Amino acid sequence: MTEAVKPDHVRLFIPGPTEVRREILEAQSHWMIGHRGADFETLFARVQGKLRQLFYTQSRVYVSTSSGTGLWEAASRNCVRDDKKVLHLVNGAFSERWYEVSKANGKQAEALEAEWGRAIKPEQLEERLRAQHYDAVAIVLNETSTGVKNPLEEMAAVIRQYPDTLILVDAVSILGGYKIDFDGLGLDVLLTSTQKAMALPPGLAFAAVSDRVLERAKQVPYRGYYFDFIELEKFLLKNHTPATPNISLLYATDKQLDYMLAEGLEARFARHEQMAQATRDWVAEAGFAMFSEEGYHSPTVTTVANTRRIDVKALNKFLKARGMTISDGYGKLKDSTFRIAHMGDLMPSDMEALFAAMNEFLAQA
Ligand SMILES: *Cc1c(COP(=O)(O)O)cnc(C)c1O
Repeated sequence: MTEAVKPDHVRLFIPGPTEVRREILEAQSHWMIGHRGADFETLFARVQGKLRQLFYTQSRVYVSTSSGTGLWEAASRNCVRDDKKVLHLVNGAFSERWYEVSKANGKQAEALEAEWGRAIKPEQLEERLRAQHYDAVAIVLNETSTGVKNPLEEMAAVIRQYPDTLILVDAVSILGGYKIDFDGLGLDVLLTSTQKAMALPPGLAFAAVSDRVLERAKQVPYRGYYFDFIELEKFLLKNHTPATPNISLLYATDKQLDYMLAEGLEARFARHEQMAQATRDWVAEAGFAMFSEEGYHSPTVTTVANTRRIDVKALNKFLKARGMTISDGYGKLKDSTFRIAHMGDLMPSDMEALFAAMNEFLAQA
């Protein structure tokens, strides 16, 4: 992110949409092509290969012209049989909303909750799974509202002891900033959208999906239409999508994936952790507190407890005059917290510039 800030450019330190580099924005201006022709198939196949690297999978990654919410609906609908239940791990606004999506699709959904700001613990989950069969467990890896990263690796190991229980993972605000080994962890659905840690404009969503899911989907008679995994599979095998996709954004995705792979995924994850640590250091030095539980801080977004009771609106006005913006709290945390995103293509130097500006504000406040 080295481009100088123009007067019309406010650099986004918000957890989505995130900063998109100029050349990635421009990749969307490629001439239009038909989505049933050879050029599209070549583009789709090229993107598919790179998505599989990013998702650490040999299986497929579906491309959906929707935001991530659409793939929540897809996962809930395709993976849970009518006479069985889905367990949602709920510890923030986004995990609560996915739980609502399952119920809105007529699924028998239960919640396993933790207080907002705290992580769900593998032992809690183990207890629930021992007591009751679930067709699937739905996990929001990175709760964008609270800044908590749930312990996915440990939870996946617990769930994998139950071969009929699918593992559905929302990685919307973290995939691209943290390693999620789909095949290694034995996950079943891993979904994200373009506009967060992938640093692309909004408009597409991606989901890695296991063979187990396709077997399950065959046992669910009403899977809906637009998000039917069986249909998506049929078309994916021909390098197509069932309906007209966002072709412009696929061009940008193709280019952005090149950039991500050239940086190196491990290097990218390390950069995120470095920016997250710098943010945590700033929080302590500036006299605030972390809202998230110690040991479970997110690598991509920090939710700061506003212990100094600063006026976040005034802070953002100050920042905006300097070409930057952060985010207020989400939902019921709107007034008690504020959020700093450190994901996508932001660089440690961008974070330093932000901290300097915030310190300047605090000194005069
Ligand atoms: C932003 C977000 C969503 C919603 O994604 P959309 O792409 O806006 O539909 C879901 N889950 C998490 C964790 C998010 O941060």
